[in-house]
Amino acid sequence: MSLETTFERRSLPLEYPFTIARGTETESEVVTVHVEDEDGRVGIGGAGPSPHYGETVATVEAVLPDLLAVVEEIDDPHNLARIERRMRETVERNPAARTAVSIACHDLAAKRLDVPLYQYWGLDPADTLETSYTIGIDDTESMREKTETALERGYGRLKVKLGTDRDIEIIRTIRSVAPDVDLFVDANEAWTPREAVRKIERLTEFDLEFVEQPVPAENREGLRFVYERSALPIAADESCVTLEDIPQIADRCDIANLKLMKCGGLREAKRMIHTARAHGLEVMCGCMTESNASIAAAAHLAPLLDYADLDGSLLLADDPYDGVSMPDGRIDLVALERPGTGAALE
Ligand SMILES: [Mg+2]
Repeated sequence: MSLETTFERRSLPLEYPFTIARGTETESEVVTVHVEDEDGRVGIGGAGPSPHYGETVATVEAVLPDLLAVVEEIDDPHNLARIERRMRETVERNPAARTAVSIACHDLAAKRLDVPLYQYWGLDPADTLETSYTIGIDDTESMREKTETALERGYGRLKVKLGTDRDIEIIRTIRSVAPDVDLFVDANEAWTPREAVRKIERLTEFDLEFVEQPVPAENREGLRFVYERSALPIAADESCVTLEDIPQIADRCDIANLKLMKCGGLREAKRMIHTARAHGLEVMCGCMTESNASIAAAAHLAPLLDYADLDGSLLLADDPYDGVSMPDGRIDLVALERPGTGAALE
């Protein structure tokens, strides 16, 4: 075999400026990786790097030549265990860059067998779920309008970004126009532990499913403080980056929110899912603002999840990549008619 690899940067405008507690972005900067075999089959993978975890498109582009050299040297897209292990030995950090290559190799391996990725993994495509759709921070009236638009589009699970001085007003407003949707909130580390406990007490009347990342990740005792006093389940996102974090958070949250761009690969993501379950946690898979070059792969994990927060492509103004379709938010693996992850340039 002789694998050929390339990568390219893309700037993808978001439909709305996307604001969370620590900042705003107006476009998603991604890097797409291609791994091609001797028969012209092309595996596609994407990196959606997050500055919060120390990555940008520039750092992704800086390490991709070394990572792709690993793939070319191993020269076997089916040996995914060796590829992920050797990539980690070559570039310890840069998980989004490693993930892009991991996805491209998984996509190619499944395409070579002419099966969708979930089938390559032996998963049940009917055992799927509905992704949440995120309402970013904005003035309260705009958040109400975006909620109404989301309802018109059929989404039945909404995630609302909080971490403002009007968090209760925001949720009261959104609940008033969306009385029946499944709703949860994400503070993105914005609250102090005592503030979190107070706010969660007030939020309980709005029938929320859970609260994501109430306090800063480095405040592990603060997370426990909130967890022990919260009437709502707690999800850990910024506190749950790699496999090694799972035992650390197991006694201070209910839900582990893993992301491909944090953990460094699809095999690593599956390892985190099973480890989280073994520790009694529920499992969510989230994402950054990403294209279907990477979201499509995450969608194949749906049968293993309790919650999917895979709206990265849905938040783009126009994703150049098709992926796994999500009518009304439902991740429809059964309808996928392409092999691999389903990522394809439109
Ligand atoms: Mg989050």
